[in-house]
Amino acid sequence: MNLALKIEQYLPQQLLTLVKSINGQAAERGERVYLVGGVVRDLLLGYPNFDLDLVVEGDAVKLAQQVAETSRAKLLAHHRFGTAKLRYGDFTLDLATARKEIYAKPGALPTITPGALNDDLIRRDFSINAMAVSLALNDYGELIDPYQGKNDLEHRLIRILNPKSFHDDATRILRAVRYEQRLGFGIEMQTAQLLKQGIPMLDTISGDRIRHELQLIFKEKLPELAIKRLGELGVLLRISPSLKGDGWIAEKFDSARRLNRPHQLPMLYFCLLIYSFSENQLEQFLAHFNTSTTLSRSLRDTIRLKISLHLLDKPAIKPSEIYNLLREYEPLAIQANAIATESSMAYQHLQLFLTKLRYVRISLNGGDLKRLGIPVGPEIGQILHALHRAKLDGEIKTRAGEKKLARFLKTLGFNTNPESPVK
Ligand code: ATP
Ligand code: MG
Repeated sequence: MNLALKIEQYLPQQLLTLVKSINGQAAERGERVYLVGGVVRDLLLGYPNFDLDLVVEGDAVKLAQQVAETSRAKLLAHHRFGTAKLRYGDFTLDLATARKEIYAKPGALPTITPGALNDDLIRRDFSINAMAVSLALNDYGELIDPYQGKNDLEHRLIRILNPKSFHDDATRILRAVRYEQRLGFGIEMQTAQLLKQGIPMLDTISGDRIRHELQLIFKEKLPELAIKRLGELGVLLRISPSLKGDGWIAEKFDSARRLNRPHQLPMLYFCLLIYSFSENQLEQFLAHFNTSTTLSRSLRDTIRLKISLHLLDKPAIKPSEIYNLLREYEPLAIQANAIATESSMAYQHLQLFLTKLRYVRISLNGGDLKRLGIPVGPEIGQILHALHRAKLDGEIKTRAGEKKLARFLKTLGFNTNPESPVK
């Protein structure tokens, strides 16, 4: 089968030009280049995918260096792995030296040596991801499909390439479910059996790698489908005894999407996933999964705020009190609690903070107060706090109002309630 027409039809012109230039330079070096993995699968399915992975029978790093010198592409090379990334405008291209893999020990990263295209395809996770398209001029567009990936695509099946696949690398369990749910496919019968038998092998996978797979799930359109399935299969339980994948998650993930802030969604999903945790459970989880400082902060704040949420679940509470209760939490954690809480009162207060209170600023600054005759010293800060509090509570609205209140506070000596610092 030849996919030349599909390639021309689906790939943006800019990307095609770069691919062709890479191929031309590879040919001069006596090397062959192939499109592989997800892009081939998606070309056959007719889905857009501009994350191009290229395999080079030769030296991918040297080739990429040469391409970077002769085009405007930016290069990021990993000599150790024989891989390189070329960034070109909005697009990135991953080049990898064709390689053989040997798994010395389950769960560990494999030992790699250079190889031919077929060695590179057989090391892959599933048949639908183990196809390539030749870019060489003499057979441009030719599909290379040694493991019947196209047939499995037609039968909508996820199939591993060897019976030890999940044993060698149990992250493939999460990957299988991710593709199954994304594409609406089924996991082929024998693969499903081996997948279930492989679940205990998740213990051999580092926290970093599992977290990475979870984060890939959170980039899916409907991650709750994969989370639910992983829950049913007992995978979540194996990853962390406190994780659940119930209907609650599905409902809350859906609410998260309705906020229409795609860039913050993956982190928000994470906060919702761990919402049922206690502080102790979360600490164990964070230590094992080695989450980044930013993510850890949002996750911790989510649980800390959940525990204090009752303070916001009452009617007579002033905006400045809401502000003081929430100002130290990450906005994402506040958002997660707004989605998760069953209390409509707490929800309203969280929303008020997120949409209004956190943006309230007074217009006077320390210099202005000095000009009003307030001596340099702690009273400046205290008056600024008092003004901010009054503005939050709607007691003053304008700059003139701020000045009036500042003068009044000055005549009182100064206000002694410095609860509400100005940000
Ligand atoms: P998508 O990005 O759409 O999820 P993809 O196929 O591009 O799909 P990547 O995670 O970008 O997936 O990986 C690129 C390719 O690398 C895959 O198609 C697969 O062939 C291979 N691959 C990735 N992870 C593994 C793994 N754990 N075991 C074997 N092969 C893998
Ligand atoms: Mg990809």
